[in-house]
Amino acid sequence: MRRPLVMGNWKMNGSLLANKALIGALEVTADDCKAIDVAVCPSFVYLSQVTELCSSSPIHVGAQNMCDQDKGAFTGEVSADMLRDLEIGFVLVGHSERRAIYSESDAMVAAKVNKALEKGIVPVLCVGETLEERQSGEMQAVIESQVRAVLDSASIAAFAQIVIAYEPVWAIGTGETATPEQAQEVHAFIRNLLAEHDAKIASRTTILYGGSVNAGNAAELFAMADVDGGLVGGASLKAADFSAICQAAQASV
Ligand code: PEP
Repeated sequence: MRRPLVMGNWKMNGSLLANKALIGALEVTADDCKAIDVAVCPSFVYLSQVTELCSSSPIHVGAQNMCDQDKGAFTGEVSADMLRDLEIGFVLVGHSERRAIYSESDAMVAAKVNKALEKGIVPVLCVGETLEERQSGEMQAVIESQVRAVLDSASIAAFAQIVIAYEPVWAIGTGETATPEQAQEVHAFIRNLLAEHDAKIASRTTILYGGSVNAGNAAELFAMADVDGGLVGGASLKAADFSAICQAAQASV
């Protein structure tokens, strides 16, 4: 039985004041939703503050990115050891915005996943196809190559420690959500890819759906057999919406 996970990706949003209000409003929900894990991923700048705010609640704190190198002359980067210093448990890796805007390749993403694993941080490996790729029938090939880059460099055993987030690029921040059936199809495809190597690990790997999840569509997405929760962008900034999404995950158990 996989334990659902609902993660908020705050992206480049937030402030000291807004973070305090948001976490304050989410604490009750996280306390109530005992059958799931709840996590938020603020900007690096606010990791300390949010970790402190969450210290007496079950809300986990994750980072949105991480460097694949240990230390040194990498201006502007943040290392896995720095995240560990703050006891950060999760890190998003290969978010489509990182892949598209900052040209992160499959190889770079795989290097980051490996570094996170080496340092004991759970990588949330984001994969997903663009609309063009879907329309030209390349969806499965794209997802497969994104997953395979990690499989080839880290091995199937690593997936016992990896969370996967399927995030179709055409659904991120657009208000257009994959239908539950579309999400299930890709989640099952990913799980089958893993099962070709190890059925037990595949059956235990958490696969989140991300892409315009909101209070209205979360329940039907989470009802799908291979959807184990959500990675939520815009709606994670609104306490009432994120709470409703967490409650939908709790009700799906
Ligand atoms: C995301 O950025 O990971 C995301 C899913 O965003 P949104 O929910 O806003 O589509």
